[in-house]
Parts: sequence; C-alpha cells; structure tokens
Amino acid sequence: MTTKTRFAPSPTGYLHIGHAYSALFTAAQGDEFILRIEDIDQTRARPEFYDAIYEDLTWLGLKWVKPVLKQSENMPAYQAALDQLTDMGVLYPCDCTRKDINESADAPHGPEGKLYTGHCRHKKITDMADDHNYALRLNIDAALKHISTPLTFYDHKAGKVDVDPHLLGDVVLARKETPTSYHLSVCIDDHAQGINLVTRGDDLLYACHIHRVIQALLGLDEPEYHHHKLLYDHEGKRFAKRNKSVTLRDIRAKGFSVDDVKNMIEKGDYLKRLSAEGL
Ligand code: GLU
Ligand code: ZN
Repeated sequence: MTTKTRFAPSPTGYLHIGHAYSALFTAAQGDEFILRIEDIDQTRARPEFYDAIYEDLTWLGLKWVKPVLKQSENMPAYQAALDQLTDMGVLYPCDCTRKDINESADAPHGPEGKLYTGHCRHKKITDMADDHNYALRLNIDAALKHISTPLTFYDHKAGKVDVDPHLLGDVVLARKETPTSYHLSVCIDDHAQGINLVTRGDDLLYACHIHRVIQALLGLDEPEYHHHKLLYDHEGKRFAKRNKSVTLRDIRAKGFSVDDVKNMIEKGDYLKRLSAEGL
C-alpha cells in the first residue's frame, strides 16, 4: 500500500527548526508527500509567508505533489459537510463570547481551554438573526447517537487509543468569522487527499479524539497517526511562532547548510550549535 503523508503549515509566520523536523519526518514516512496550506484564518495569513513556505521546503530538499491545496480555497467542501451535519441535527448556533465562556466558573478545563457547558444547546439556526454572528458547535451527545461502535485510533507511538468523545466538549466546527474550523477542515482534507498516515507534533494527539468523531459522522476514512516529539528552544518552550523561534531563514543566513540542519536535529545539539552562531 502507498503511504500518503502531508505537512500542513499555516502561513502566519516563517517556518522554524521545529517545522523542518516535522516536514522532514513527514516526507520520510510517506511514499507520497503532500503539502497543504492551512490558511482558513485569513486575518493572520500573509502572502510572503506562503512564498516562504515553498522556498524553505525547497531548500530542505523536499518535493511535494502539485497543485497545493489551500484551505481558504476549499470552503465549499467545508460548507457541504456543515450542511450534512445540520441535516443530521448535531449542530447548534452559539453566540457566547469567549468572555462568557471563561466566566462560566463551573466549567472544567479541556486541552483547548475551558470546556463549553452547552449553554446554547437548545438554540436553532432559524432562531438566530441573519447577521451570522454565531458559531456552530457540535452537540457531542446528539453526535454519539449516530455512532454505534466505540471509536479508537491507532498512533504509531502511542499505540491503540480509546476515543474519549467528551474530551473537548461541544467543539466549534464553524466560527463567526470563518465558516469552518481546524478540526473540521483537517478531517475533510485528509480524507479527500487520501492521507492514510497523519503525522504532526504530539501537542495535537488530543485532537484525534474529536477528529475520529467527525470522521465517523461524515463517513470519512480513518487514517493512522504518528504524533512525533516537539523540539524545544533555549527557554524550554516548544519552537512556535509566538515565541519568536529561530526561523529557517535566520539559520540559512548564518551559513548553515541543509545537512547541518539535518545533523543538528538528529544529534539533538541544535540549541548549542545555534547559540554558538548567536541565534
Ligand atoms: N497547521 C497545523 C500546525 O501547524 C497542522 C495540524 C495538522 O497537521 O493536523 O500545527
Ligand atoms: Zn453559546
């Protein structure tokens, strides 16, 4: 069987060494390597970051299947899925603000913040004003009525995992500003692109619990997973755009070659080698 993997960065900043690890890992695991641009949040995407993704991955020696799917251009597919879920009666509109949710004192914490307590579960889309100022949430209890067998997923590192469908509560599947969400889009695209091995950082392992529910509801194929370790920066934080991590362009500008980068990732001495160059 052909193993199809994908690397799915968001064009909201320059790629850093953690991305390099993830992209090289993903390409090495697959017979076919797909690049997908996760740009549903058009308020944060910037044209120069799209170009930089192509440039940096090319520098790493990677080749990907063309054309590249940009999620911002795939909205009709997400809308069709939302329509299907609406017909199944598992979505409801929610106009709570983040503040409302944070102030709901009794709500337990989930992997993405406070769990939603289902305040708007009784609302219908037809009750809402036409300004579309609401999100669409998945009523997880209604959703489970459509799923007959207990769900699991298989991760190459974590093994077989039993799905806890309530882990994320009633997740948002479509936002006010963007009529989709990471969780919905990623399931649809992985299925549509025939991805049978999903690789990404292990900070997203928890997301499989809701992805399996979405896949079951929409009749999408179940991929295998391989959640890999994350790389950490000088402060012990994972490399991420928000902590101004060392970008691949900074590393390149200091004269490091691709083999240097591969070596330091493999040896794990990247912090020492980068700081020796003032990075
Ligand atoms: N855009 C996500 C990230 O950069 C990728 C999530 C995924 O691979 O499912 O972390
Ligand atoms: Zn609400």
